[in-house]
Amino acid sequence: MDNAGGMRDTEGLQSSLFFETPEEIYARVFRELRPRAPLPDLRVEFRRFANADSFIRLENGRLEVRISDLLAGAPAPVMEALAHILLGKLYRKPVPRSYAHRYRLYLNRRDFRRQAHLVRQIRGRKFISGPQGTHHNLEEIFERLNGQFFDGLLGRPQLGWSRRASRSLLGHFDPSHNAIIISRILDQPRGPALAPAVALEYVMFHEMLHLRYPVDHLASRRRVHTREFREAEKEFPQLKEAKEILKRL
Ligand SMILES: [Zn+2]
Repeated sequence: MDNAGGMRDTEGLQSSLFFETPEEIYARVFRELRPRAPLPDLRVEFRRFANADSFIRLENGRLEVRISDLLAGAPAPVMEALAHILLGKLYRKPVPRSYAHRYRLYLNRRDFRRQAHLVRQIRGRKFISGPQGTHHNLEEIFERLNGQFFDGLLGRPQLGWSRRASRSLLGHFDPSHNAIIISRILDQPRGPALAPAVALEYVMFHEMLHLRYPVDHLASRRRVHTREFREAEKEFPQLKEAKEILKRL
């Protein structure tokens, strides 16, 4: 960044006087929804997601919001509407219609959709396949598990099948491309197949937990599967059965 001298300082001062930062917007909406609760630490980040989905979570008293960078330039009233939607979901409060409407209206604008489409094309180029396999659709599985275990709040990453039917790497989450890739060996017909659907669902659930509990890129395998991660994994009802099936692959 070049040095624009005093000019830049003046501009910075003005914007801090007249505009709310995303954190300030979330703090204000939080106070509106929960006037008596203490304000948690707040962090709002823009991430390179493949779509406009956003994500919120409360952990150790800290509120983390991740918003698609597609929305980084959205006008403040749209940010405010999204804050009402995300915080409303988190605290199970009804979201006033006007906010839901305002947000939807923005996402449906033609310029926004064109930009999102372009970004999706460019980012999608890195991937070999889309979510549709021969027998299973990864998007359907993701959304079903999202509703069942994550209150539907996980932002959907790119989903794809690996090119080769690997037995050793059944799935992985690639944070730099925000993608979950599942081994093609799990794309088998329903019924008495080699890898029944429950094994595929378990592998997807496991990779979704990596989204839910992100860790430092360089973390060891042990640290990647933290205690918190392992506890959450136990919520999968057919965990033992699925692991048995995968062992026999
Ligand atoms: Zn893992």
